[in-house]
Amino acid sequence: TVRTRIAPSPTGDPHVGTAYIALFNLCFARQHGGQFILRIEDTDRQRSTSESEQMILDSLRWLGLEWDEGPDVGGPHGPYRQSERGDIYAEYARQLLDAGHAFKCYRTSEELDELREARKAEGLQMALKPADLALPDDEIKRREAEGMPYVVRMNVPAEGTCVVEDMLRGTIEVDWAQVDAQILLKSDGMPTYHLANVVDDHLMGITHVLRGEEWINSAPKHKLLYEYFGWEMPQLCHMPLLRNPDKSKLSKRKNPTSINYYRRMGFLPQAVTNYLGRMGWSMPDDREKFTLDEMMAHFDIQRVSLGGPVFDLEKLTWLNGVYIREDLDDAALLKALRNWAFNESYVGEILPQVRPRIETLSDVMPLAGHFFAGLPRIDAQSFDEVKLERDELVKLLQFLIWRFEGVTRWDKESLLSEVKSLSEVFGLKMKAFLAPVFIAITGSATSTSVMDAMAILGSDMTRARLRHAVE
Ligand code: ATP
Ligand code: GLU
Repeated sequence: TVRTRIAPSPTGDPHVGTAYIALFNLCFARQHGGQFILRIEDTDRQRSTSESEQMILDSLRWLGLEWDEGPDVGGPHGPYRQSERGDIYAEYARQLLDAGHAFKCYRTSEELDELREARKAEGLQMALKPADLALPDDEIKRREAEGMPYVVRMNVPAEGTCVVEDMLRGTIEVDWAQVDAQILLKSDGMPTYHLANVVDDHLMGITHVLRGEEWINSAPKHKLLYEYFGWEMPQLCHMPLLRNPDKSKLSKRKNPTSINYYRRMGFLPQAVTNYLGRMGWSMPDDREKFTLDEMMAHFDIQRVSLGGPVFDLEKLTWLNGVYIREDLDDAALLKALRNWAFNESYVGEILPQVRPRIETLSDVMPLAGHFFAGLPRIDAQSFDEVKLERDELVKLLQFLIWRFEGVTRWDKESLLSEVKSLSEVFGLKMKAFLAPVFIAITGSATSTSVMDAMAILGSDMTRARLRHAVE
């Protein structure tokens, strides 16, 4: 049976690209009566967080992209979190070492830099091959005896061509000369993406790998690993990456890429999923509006077109409006509004903000309307009251966006410490520093506390409003 998977790394916001790839894997599996698996690739212990993992699961589920096996629902091939499968990778790395398909590499990072410099000076390919990394036997023995750290690397051919078949692209050829003696186990014993991914795809019975085209360069290494292990390789399908309207790779600098943003903006999950289904793909009759079930029923991977699909916020917004008008009666619209923001949990967060500032209940909306809005209207006069030059103001907001991108725990304390330290960099008192931030976030000069507002609005909406203010 057909088995596909989505294998996100929980290192940040839940990315629309992850949802897009998940959608196509799900449709492919369902079309063949197969299964769709979710696996968490958290071997990068520095960057992986459980908050990010939870957000990814929540977002995919919100979009209706349900998996048959995964870390939260279990299944016969678990654990489904790579950080819990360390022993498995160590065992398979040992098999490769024993068979001579991999070697321990005791090279220090200084030596690696020197080797790369030397190759560059000679105008050679940058890839480091096993022969470049080799050390005399007695030197290896010495380093081993000293207990120096080592990594496990895979052997790769010095020359020739690697041929990989892709379901959409046909035959892809890569010169082995360009392929590194890839690290499989890091010095801390953790596997790299390549080893863990191949071992897991095999053990989890994955038959088809649909993933972003950024992974094409990894395919030769994976193919070789499958050969070393004597395993059949899943069929590969590299999907075109989502693009900004200017055709560059979709990036958070130009477009919100977090699913949380679309949720907070009040997009309907069925509209977002529908729109992602239009990324490089179309229904046989070309209709623009279709449900997930309809997409599954008519799915054909060969109708994916490789021209970069443009993720266009305006088109998505239009489609969302069509859904609201055509699919939601009053009762359904009310329910959608409740799910979105008019619920006890969200309104409950806002009450402490408004209570000290209102005399009648009707004061609430003028004061707190921005909690129920998207991007505030910003015009030429918006910042008139702020005593900063336009250049300085733009710089301030831009730096704040960059600071906020690095915040992993989004709470008032963390935000306050970023704001404090940045205001010192700008040589401004907190109050002066926050004045333009206030307007960018709430759209007015009088409202609830801006620090609390940012904490409640969340990282995505906060950054989107700051970006909107300097656009
Ligand atoms: P940005 O450029 O906005 O910083 P990124 O490339 O750093 O984004 P990652 O956090 O590396 O984003 O990627 C998260 C997930 O989203 C990965 O699985 C990646 O494959 C996927 N992804 C990122 N960009 C795209 C894209 N343009 N199209 C499809 N998938 C993408
Ligand atoms: N963990 C990889 C990612 O974040 C998975 C790539 C793949 O599907 O092989 O996209």
